[in-house]
Amino acid sequence: MESMMAVQGAGAAAALFLLWAVIERVRASRLAGRAAALQAEVDALKSAPLKQEFRMDRFEVLWFPTVTASEAGKVVTQVVPGLPHCKSCVASLTLAADHSFSCGRCGAKFAASLADVFVTDSVSKDAVKFFQERHPGFRVELKK
Ligand SMILES: [Zn+2]
Repeated sequence: MESMMAVQGAGAAAALFLLWAVIERVRASRLAGRAAALQAEVDALKSAPLKQEFRMDRFEVLWFPTVTASEAGKVVTQVVPGLPHCKSCVASLTLAADHSFSCGRCGAKFAASLADVFVTDSVSKDAVKFFQERHPGFRVELKK
């Protein structure tokens, strides 16, 4: 009788061990799955473009140019000068039919030359300069 109970006890212990092993295996595979998902998230963040917006006072108006760069390649890929904004209201200016810019909030008028390539290029160049001051070692290879 005693030996029967010992056998039963050993069988129960084996069953418990088996159950534990199965649970551990499921847990390990779940952890591995979560680790892989987290790694994929980290990789996506690393390859996501770095975007930085600047605020600049140029040509009597405010600009909020955006510089986009690749962190992995350490290269600036895009610069967008953005729209000119009214200095007093910080509202974006609208282009009127006579090609002048005006503020929709305070009504201030600005020269049409704000849309000149010279102006937008100058804003873009300064934005890249600011970006490179904050992120040394980045080259500029703008995508056309
Ligand atoms: Zn205004």
